[in-house]
Amino acid sequence: MSTTFGQSTVLGYPRIGANRELKKAVEAYWAGRIDADALAATAAGLRAEVWQTLRDARLDAIPSNTFSYYDHMLDTAVAVGAVPERFRRLGLTDLDTYFAMARGVDAEPALELTKWFDTNYHYLVPEIGPDTVFTANPEKALREYAEASALGITTRPVFVGPATFLLLAKGADPFARLDDLVDTYARILAALADAGVAWVQLDEPAYVADRTAAEIDALRAVYTRLGDLAHRPQIFVATYFGELGAALPALLDTPIEAVGLDLVAGPGNLRWLAAARSLRGKTIVAGLVDGHNIWRADLRKAVTTGATVTALADHVAVSSSCSLLHVPVDLSAETRLDPHLYERLAFARQKVDEVVLLGKALRDGTAQLPEPPPPPPAAWRHDDVRGRLAALAPANRRRGEYTERAAAQQERLTLPPLPTTTIGSFPQTAELRKARAELRAGTLDDAGYAQRMRAEVEHVIRLQEQLGLDVLVHGEPERNDMVQYFGEQLDGFAATDNGWVQSYGSRCVRPPIIYGDVARKAPMTVAWSTYAQSLTTKPVKGMLTGPVTMLAWSFVRTDQPRADTADQVALALRDECRDLEAAGIRVIQVDEPALRETLPLRQADQKSYLDWAVAAFRLATSGVADSTQIHTHLCYSEFGDVITAIDALDADVTSIEASRSKMEVLDDLAAIGYRRGVGPGVWDIHSPRVPALDEVVEALRRAVAAVPARRLWVNPDCGLKTRGYPEVEASLRHLVAAAAEVRGQS
Ligand code: GLN
Ligand code: ZN
Repeated sequence: MSTTFGQSTVLGYPRIGANRELKKAVEAYWAGRIDADALAATAAGLRAEVWQTLRDARLDAIPSNTFSYYDHMLDTAVAVGAVPERFRRLGLTDLDTYFAMARGVDAEPALELTKWFDTNYHYLVPEIGPDTVFTANPEKALREYAEASALGITTRPVFVGPATFLLLAKGADPFARLDDLVDTYARILAALADAGVAWVQLDEPAYVADRTAAEIDALRAVYTRLGDLAHRPQIFVATYFGELGAALPALLDTPIEAVGLDLVAGPGNLRWLAAARSLRGKTIVAGLVDGHNIWRADLRKAVTTGATVTALADHVAVSSSCSLLHVPVDLSAETRLDPHLYERLAFARQKVDEVVLLGKALRDGTAQLPEPPPPPPAAWRHDDVRGRLAALAPANRRRGEYTERAAAQQERLTLPPLPTTTIGSFPQTAELRKARAELRAGTLDDAGYAQRMRAEVEHVIRLQEQLGLDVLVHGEPERNDMVQYFGEQLDGFAATDNGWVQSYGSRCVRPPIIYGDVARKAPMTVAWSTYAQSLTTKPVKGMLTGPVTMLAWSFVRTDQPRADTADQVALALRDECRDLEAAGIRVIQVDEPALRETLPLRQADQKSYLDWAVAAFRLATSGVADSTQIHTHLCYSEFGDVITAIDALDADVTSIEASRSKMEVLDDLAAIGYRRGVGPGVWDIHSPRVPALDEVVEALRRAVAAVPARRLWVNPDCGLKTRGYPEVEASLRHLVAAAAEVRGQS
């Protein structure tokens, strides 16, 4: 069936529901409180609500199959039959097999979870081997298409495209299976055509990253084959998160009907379009409304961009730049935001209106576009902060020579070789969560809350002393979240009430919004750290979240470069470090777990990012004396791309996730000449398992072989907030004992 694409669309919409209904239903199903039918009913209700919302907003082209119980990559894996044998064997129902792949069961660990491009969304990594038998399972997509049709709504089923699916998969050589996989997609497309589907959307975002010529040729081959099929819906290949580059002419060479381009994250796409040999017969779906951030679009600018595309192509539609999955559902749920901020924001529901308006404006002119918001209030600007940043010299981002620092620190701290420590948080117990809930509900006052937190700090300090750890932490009981905690205390940050975004599966996060100049009003952590330090003679580490991570886990203003915002955060942290130091804190850890995750997708953009990321960290941490020891913590295992940046942070001690990668990172660090302290995690805290003493000894021995013992620290992989006390005590006991054993031998 041949129909035009429509004037306006979105590439996807949040599936969690306006009040996280999906999260609640899925978790109730896992806990056995509701059955599969009840879960299915909730899911169907949520889908119907989304389609009706989109139709009522007068969106012309509405997606389906964007709903997921857990993850859209997992859905695509199931749609092509890529269910590994280790899960099939379990003999579960389809739904439970699906959840087993997502979450693991006692007998089988889950598929690996990893970041979806440069977002905070995590997808499940398909396992594709030479023996994977692909089969076409279009049932989910067909069911959703039929559900929407029953409501009188025609939809466009969405799948991850075959090339991206394999490029993101793991296994011996997943991409080698492309031909087989395309056969299966062909069968799925035939089934969709049988059901009367007019358009299908295949997402190929992997092509906005650097790809080889062979991979681009493969893309051309895939869509030539699918495009040549006699019996198929019209094909819309969506790309997003950046510039498509040389993959665009390759796609345009094929018989597909529509190509989607992200003109927000990839303005350079315009140049590639202009250079295209021919756009005859193609629909260009112009991603003009940012699906990755929460600011209202500059509609006039977007119309201008849209008009440029219209001048080049026969048919143009307007869309969100990527799926709206990455923004909260509805701004109108926010009743307590500053009105000046509110009027600048657009969540998913509002972005749909923007897309519809832009579609109309491109056709009928700009008359009906709403006015842009007035200039920001003067109070959002901090001239003092700007003045201080403008006056900075390179020396403000540099510490003394490392050898002198190390000597001064050792004299002050007198640590044994292989010092033991933890990454910061201790278990967030039910009592702590209860205290926070009571504080929110008003049944516990600030003083009562602080009292309970202090009691927890005391407990954590006593426990660490009893276990014999060398550098202690206060345990972070007062922190709901390592970014939100600081956001609540800094000027320029706002929190939402209901701005939830899916992070993975049923896990949702509520990122703060950085809307104005960031400024510290008062010390943020000093009282907690000094209280903890007052309870012990051992050094207690001050604990801060670094500038890159603060930005990565927030929605960041776009009216100035991220580098400038990062420096503003860094300046606040610099003041905090100085205050901690003045209050007698001898060791300060500045966490940067997100350093790797916001690395730009294309290599050409990576250097400038790493430059400002490193500069901001150094601004935050270089205001202290040589004798104050700076730690940093990073937690992901693929360090390769950022290893020189990690070195450039110039922290005295770097703790990193390493136990799953078997300490390989130590060789990487050695290879680039890293010569400061390093704490490779010797206990994988992502699992509830207590590591045996022998295992920790073994990991330490491997580490000592790669790094001299005097530079080696002994610590877990990451913070302990998700663990329970019994496993934490047992594991830390092994960790301390292992350090003692290896110390004796080295
Ligand atoms: N200090 C933080 C904690 O221990 C670090 C968390 C993280 O790396 N994500 O919880
Ligand atoms: Zn971590």
